[in-house]
Amino acid sequence: MSHILVINAGSSSIKYQLVDPASGERFASGLVERIGEPEGRIVHRGAREEELAIAAADHTAAFEAMVAAFARQGAWVESLGIAAVGHRVVQGGDEFVAPTLIDDSVAERILQLGSLAPLHNPGQYQAIVAARALFPDAPHVAVFDTAFHQTMPPSAYTYAIAPEVAAEHGVRRYGFHGISHQVVSRRAAEFLGRPVGELRQIVLHLGNGASACAIDRGRSVDTSMGLTPLEGLVMGTRSGDIDPGALLHLLRAGYDVDDLDRLLNARSGLLGFTGTNDFRDVRAAAEAGDAAAALAIDLYARRIRHYLGAYLVELGGADTIVFTAGVGENNAALRAEVCADLEWFGIRIDADRNESTERGARRISADDSRVEVLVVPTDEEAEIARQTRQLVG
Ligand code: AMP
Repeated sequence: MSHILVINAGSSSIKYQLVDPASGERFASGLVERIGEPEGRIVHRGAREEELAIAAADHTAAFEAMVAAFARQGAWVESLGIAAVGHRVVQGGDEFVAPTLIDDSVAERILQLGSLAPLHNPGQYQAIVAARALFPDAPHVAVFDTAFHQTMPPSAYTYAIAPEVAAEHGVRRYGFHGISHQVVSRRAAEFLGRPVGELRQIVLHLGNGASACAIDRGRSVDTSMGLTPLEGLVMGTRSGDIDPGALLHLLRAGYDVDDLDRLLNARSGLLGFTGTNDFRDVRAAAEAGDAAAALAIDLYARRIRHYLGAYLVELGGADTIVFTAGVGENNAALRAEVCADLEWFGIRIDADRNESTERGARRISADDSRVEVLVVPTDEEAEIARQTRQLVG
């Protein structure tokens, strides 16, 4: 048995899955939360599901709690057959263009790249250090969210500011959600029975974080997130696009950098309008007549349509438009709003197909739609496992 342990860590949490990379089947999964706080918590789903309070002072203690959870259910780490550990890393800069075997120097670079992703890379680095110590014999692989977008042309990733300033500070579009855009575009092609290398695709990853990606025959050529995961679409708590002049205006009005960070990352988007970042609740409020919730949904859909239009032009038309992640997979009304009145572009949704609650990859476009509109569930963990296995053989 050779399983891949997939790790998706943050500064105070670690999600893990034990995956068969060949089939994508999960043998166990779990979440350790509130690392570094007085009382942490683990939810482990293995032979059975259990949840308990633990002491998780740091990432090492969190992994020890994971190992103990496996052991309580009769699965000792030695018997799990962990062939490799795949680590999700959010920011790989412009140097990590593919999954990379982690040694000390790679780990160090991941930490240094934390200056570009302060909310993500430092916690992921800590998880890498702890997991390498705990599983010293397994190869550890970093799979980067930015890597898939390294195929963008300069005109897509360059901001029109003084080049020497951009170069000195690494200011450019990196793009995120690359692992999701990659797996979803490949599965969309599989669903259609066509090679990914033949298709022009627009993938709309609409979760709590959200981004659009233009994929030309398997290569990302543009994406809506930028230097950070803040640019682009309206999100659960993030503003997406905003005039940079508005930030200067707020700074002059007395906001400081941390105020702006909180405003744009944590107090904006759907939550800013409605007090909740859960799309279901926002939709329910809009349907009950709440004007702010209705405006939030209009803005959300309108922004998606702006990127859809831009990417249709960039790609010279599209073969597929793919909806994925929490909102994209589940909210039929939003999909209908995004695709409304686009017959001129060859896009037409079939209402019954769109409203079907069937799971798995499915077509929601009408038979006479020139563009195939699909819903394809994302599966970032399976993709991390696949890329990890590909690298370690
Ligand atoms: P994700 O980040 O992919 O887990 O997506 C989270 C978002 O998906 C949240 O805004 C949820 O409200 C939304 N979501 C999850 N399930 C549904 C559903 N059945 N209908 C509408 N939105 C959903």
